[in-house]
Amino acid sequence: MRYSRFFAPTLRDDPADAEVISHKLLLRAGFIRRVTSGVYDFLPMGLRVLRKIEGIVREEMARAGAQELLLPMVQPSELWKKSGRWEKYGNELLRFKDRHAHESCLGPTHEEVICDLVSRELRSYKQLPMNLYQIQSKFRDEVRPRFGLMRGREFVMKDAYSFHADEESLQEEYDNMFATYQRIFTRLGLKFRAVEADTGSIGGNQSHEFHVLAESGEDLIAYCSHCDYAANVEKGISTRTIPSFDDAALHEIETPNVSSVEDVASFLKIDPSQLIKTLVYQVTGGEFDGQTVAACVYGDDSLQEIKLARALAANDVELADDAALLAIGGIKGFVGPQGLSCKILVDESLRDAVGMVAGGNNADSHVSGLSISRDIENADFVDLREVRLNDGCAHCSEGHIEHARGIEVGQVFALGQQYTKPLEVLFQDQNGKRATATMGCYGIGVSRLVAAVIEQCNDENGMIWPLSLAPFQVAIITMGKSETAMNASEKLYDDMCKQGIEVLWDDRKERPGVKFKDAELMGLPIHVVIGDRGLDADAIEIRQRTGSKQDVALSAVIDTIHGILAGAN
Ligand code: ATP
Ligand code: MG
Repeated sequence: MRYSRFFAPTLRDDPADAEVISHKLLLRAGFIRRVTSGVYDFLPMGLRVLRKIEGIVREEMARAGAQELLLPMVQPSELWKKSGRWEKYGNELLRFKDRHAHESCLGPTHEEVICDLVSRELRSYKQLPMNLYQIQSKFRDEVRPRFGLMRGREFVMKDAYSFHADEESLQEEYDNMFATYQRIFTRLGLKFRAVEADTGSIGGNQSHEFHVLAESGEDLIAYCSHCDYAANVEKGISTRTIPSFDDAALHEIETPNVSSVEDVASFLKIDPSQLIKTLVYQVTGGEFDGQTVAACVYGDDSLQEIKLARALAANDVELADDAALLAIGGIKGFVGPQGLSCKILVDESLRDAVGMVAGGNNADSHVSGLSISRDIENADFVDLREVRLNDGCAHCSEGHIEHARGIEVGQVFALGQQYTKPLEVLFQDQNGKRATATMGCYGIGVSRLVAAVIEQCNDENGMIWPLSLAPFQVAIITMGKSETAMNASEKLYDDMCKQGIEVLWDDRKERPGVKFKDAELMGLPIHVVIGDRGLDADAIEIRQRTGSKQDVALSAVIDTIHGILAGAN
């Protein structure tokens, strides 16, 4: 491609609204443009990278035995009503009516559609197992689309769905996909980690997420310093030191205007771990839909809301307002679990706690001497606390918990029969009986990966693409306007094109400095500099974006490039 004809509008300065480096560079280097919130154009440069990532994903999915198909983006509400997600999915599901007032949605994921397809075609166990996948645009009306391609509303996903006659076969495919994901992210040159994950709105019994490790990641990962335990904090478990206090009678103490954990602890001269933090939530979905519940953790712990929602089998939990607090006998800033007229969930670690301090459910008051077993009737004990840095590892006795930030680039789920049952994916088993298929699903954020790679591979001058993903492998940078330089460049360009080298020839009438800056910004791996001086001396400079430089004879340029490309494979 000749740069003078190429549509790659670069920007000199960082765009004001871009916070993370990948978003800044993708805009500056002319890879993407914003259309509206969370919706982007892929310009030719951006698309070339997207296609390369898709290519690696396709190769590895084929190697794993999966078959590609393409499902529609528009999905009828009937299927979502069958699975129960039409009501459950919430506002991320973009619903609309067509001219016949028929309700549909834009697919945020495709369990319903694929189950519908397979239910109509599946007859016998002999057709199982099978794994079908697609690479396609999804739409999720995210509350906070941000960071460019990292969290869009419209984004490209690879989603695979596997169907099985039994659990054992599902487990085999789960392991197969797990290994495939490791191969894909390794081939993409990423530093990543697989972690145990919550199953979220997709559901199911077992799940792992794959995270690219990066400071800008939205997820927090907890991992053990000693063993290979790693989990998203939404799901992670650990052990904490359990403080011990003297048992005492329950009595009220005055705490005028003192309500936060820190303030109460310093006012009463106690450690925050002697306090019980009581949080009150409004529940959406599940058995407790519309109800208010209270949840307790140690004062020095944080409550993990995803765990709370999971414990209640709810879609969502949201902190209750003052009126809801009053209705259950609490009061803002001074809530304690004793005597509340609602369901109370208490973190497991507090089961035997005595001599604790909690809100007094009266203004400016607390209680001390609280004993969970004596004073809280009907407490349900569940895991609610968020894993903290330096906690003990619950899986080995030797390690402690460390934290890392991650960008979720993939997730695998063993779904079981959550969708195959309501959507009636049935088959005849070996004994001639009707049976329900068992299912797994496996997603990769293809467009998010474009951003994730940049987050890990950049410097002050721009992107640094690995050869396997670069939009072009080589940039020919012609210096000056001399006919000799232009002719030599053109000849080199033609030869490279003929040999299948992906090359962008910067033939623009720009100063060399501008050309170098753009090639660096775009992160093209190999830069071949053609100018009169180099041609006269027959010493052509080949620079690699990662730093090294060498001079070679003009006649040796292409062989040198082949050498560099081969080294990368
Ligand atoms: P997140 O927790 O980041 O919202 P998710 O767990 O809801 O993601 P999945 O349903 O697991 O997402 O979708 C599979 C993959 O699609 C994710 O691992 C992620 O890489 C990608 N993905 C999900 N939502 C977005 C989005 N809004 N923009 C870009 N990629 C996304
Ligand atoms: Mg996920």
